Amino acid sequence: MSILLGCIADDFTGATDLAGILVNGGMRTLVTIGVPERAIPADVDAVVVALKSRTTPPDEAIRDSLGALDYLRRQGTRQYYFKYCSTFDSTDRGNIGPVAEALMGALGAAFTIACPAFPANARTIYKGYLFVGDVLLNESGMRNHPLTPMTHANLVRVLALQSTRPVGLVEHGTVARGAPAITERFAALQAKGDYCAIVDALSNDDLMVLGEACRDMVLLTGGSGAALGLPANFVRAGLLRLTDAADRLPPSDGARAVLAGSCSTATQAQVAKMRATHPAFEIDPVALAAGEDIVGAALEWATPKLGQEPILISSTASPDAVRSAQARYGAERLGGLIENTLANIAGGLVERDVGQLIVAGGETSGAVTKALGVQSLRIGPQIDPGVPWTQADRGPGNRPLALALKSGNFGTEDFFLKAWNLLV
Ligand code: ADP
Repeated sequence: MSILLGCIADDFTGATDLAGILVNGGMRTLVTIGVPERAIPADVDAVVVALKSRTTPPDEAIRDSLGALDYLRRQGTRQYYFKYCSTFDSTDRGNIGPVAEALMGALGAAFTIACPAFPANARTIYKGYLFVGDVLLNESGMRNHPLTPMTHANLVRVLALQSTRPVGLVEHGTVARGAPAITERFAALQAKGDYCAIVDALSNDDLMVLGEACRDMVLLTGGSGAALGLPANFVRAGLLRLTDAADRLPPSDGARAVLAGSCSTATQAQVAKMRATHPAFEIDPVALAAGEDIVGAALEWATPKLGQEPILISSTASPDAVRSAQARYGAERLGGLIENTLANIAGGLVERDVGQLIVAGGETSGAVTKALGVQSLRIGPQIDPGVPWTQADRGPGNRPLALALKSGNFGTEDFFLKAWNLLV
């Protein structure tokens, strides 16, 4: 067995979130974008296959998840994990229940858990009810989610509606009695005919105990919190040696650049801070929409500067400027245009020897990783909570790239300046 934990995540940010937890637990972790074509490198303990299966039709989600499972099995995987959102984003049609049942069928697994609790992010479960902060799931903003509105908080019922078999509950009283009590309860629920148990969890301690109780479970399902206790199982079994090097990346070189397509408050401050001391190129949405060759202009501007100091290329603008540009050109059209422009600039920069790249903005990051042909990301040291450096593999013949993908609102004001210090 080369992979200790093989995970299937129903979206990309969820995959990186889970990967961060595993790296913190001492596991060397790789996130793959979709099912990879190649074998997993030998020095990896955990793999997270990032799918886009949260809101696709259930058949498609099942097909993609089984494809990922098949790949992980062929790599030799000890334990499996199906990762979804900590707000249990799903509908009566799925995709959590149908995917969980399909994976269990393929693995011959008789019983599993469903635990989206993530106390660090204020997602807790009590008597099977999911709380978001101080309110029930169905009283939170998730009630109005455009794709997966969550109108019920009782997860036993929510999951049963999207399952073919009954769902049980492991209450907090049992969790508080420790791992053996939880395992005993699993056996009782399974004997009663349940295929899955929602598990109460109010704290990280609860999740650590739950992890211990799931030591021999073939497949677990949950948010990223339920994975907290799993690395310790592998350590106890002598399969994982704890070092402080789980987040160590191979050395990287090449020029340094920042691409910012986010207009979020945090990114605005980060852009302003970097512009004060470093060369910066601003993308003008009006010129872009008028058909000017902004990619060519940005690359011509950047080329002589590369390698001397980090450069910044951004479309980041104030809310007023964004609103007026959107009113003129349409929000979606302009957003897509800017994303494409930044993605093409990224391609040009990498061709010109940029080897260390920070991208700001969720959608922008998606466009850039696609344009660069990124296949997998090895998770490295954390720059700020939720934003690690990664080593991006772009397939045979392409030099690996140090890549940091920053959600718009993450990071301190000096993020673009301090991040480089973590690279060797
Ligand atoms: P965040 O993580 O902050 O939400 P995203 O990259 O996900 O950032 O989204 C930002 C969106 O705004 C992208 O579609 C981007 O192309 C668009 N955008 C960036 N700059 C501007 C601008 N100056 N005017 C209008 N839209 C912009």
